[in-house]
Amino acid sequence: MTNLPSPPLPHGTLALFLDFDGTLAGIQDDPETVALPAGGADLLDTLAAQLDGALALVSGRDIRDLTARTPLSVWRAGGHGLEICRPGEAPAEIRALAPDTLMAAVETVTTSVPGARIEPKGEVIAIHYRSVQEHAESLGKALTEAIAPHENYSLQQGKMVFEAKPSHAHKGRALARMMQQPPFLGRVPVMVGDDTTDEDAMRVAMDLGGWAVKVGPGASAAEYGLSGPEEVWTWLQAAVA
Ligand SMILES: [Mg+2]
Repeated sequence: MTNLPSPPLPHGTLALFLDFDGTLAGIQDDPETVALPAGGADLLDTLAAQLDGALALVSGRDIRDLTARTPLSVWRAGGHGLEICRPGEAPAEIRALAPDTLMAAVETVTTSVPGARIEPKGEVIAIHYRSVQEHAESLGKALTEAIAPHENYSLQQGKMVFEAKPSHAHKGRALARMMQQPPFLGRVPVMVGDDTTDEDAMRVAMDLGGWAVKVGPGASAAEYGLSGPEEVWTWLQAAVA
């Protein structure tokens, strides 16, 4: 549980930015099985209409993956903002990939830690360590060294995962970019998320005069909190009631 106060209900002058995994859907061991809860897509549709379209899903998932799990009728930012689709827009079929030399270096490190697992996400490479948490520190150190020659890339640690990300894969920059255009322009941004990459977007939302909601336990820049996806949906439901 988080000790932060509950956020006010989203209203007509806000722009709402929602993370997916751990925020709208519970985290599962297999990311392939994660989906919105029953009725969730319809509720997002309704809420987006109430906000004149100013609702975006902002995820670390590849945009094609995110789009397969969420309504096409809302804005979607995938790959931590690498690719952004407007309502109704389908993502390009082909995705850019991380450099071969980087992937090879990450593979060398990851295979040296049995139980650690690579998930290629286009230009982003995720390295999951849920089953080898005792090696997280040494794995992170080795990955940082492996990535160092690739100046555009950095390593960010999230929940049971490291991610090698190019500098433009940044939820804060994605939020800022969307806020510069209609229907977001002139609204007050609210970022809701559960993990470290969401903190980047929370800080930008707050810098732009908005606010942030931390989902679940843990330190956060946010001034408001919700205990988990279930409470997020209760909050969203109340907003459209
Ligand atoms: Mg998340």
